[in-house]
Amino acid sequence: PYVVTEACIRCKYMDCVEVCPVDCFYEGENMLVINPDECIDCGVCEPECPAEAILPDTEETAEKWLELNRTYAENW
Ligand code: SF4
Repeated sequence: PYVVTEACIRCKYMDCVEVCPVDCFYEGENMLVINPDECIDCGVCEPECPAEAILPDTEETAEKWLELNRTYAENW
């Protein structure tokens, strides 16, 4: 799945949420997150993010954000 990273913190753009075909974005404490269990890996949101905060979880920098995305998404 794709994950949201720290570049999203306090970002006010919601363009990614609009384009996601399965509505798997959720609002975390101060950033958006993607529910990794709902994300279908389509990649549509990645170029929409002006902060470049969205990465596939195969990227090294994204790995540590996966659990946080899951935790925030499940506690929404
Ligand atoms: Fe939604 Fe696709 Fe982005 Fe996953 S990759 S969060 S399904 S837009």
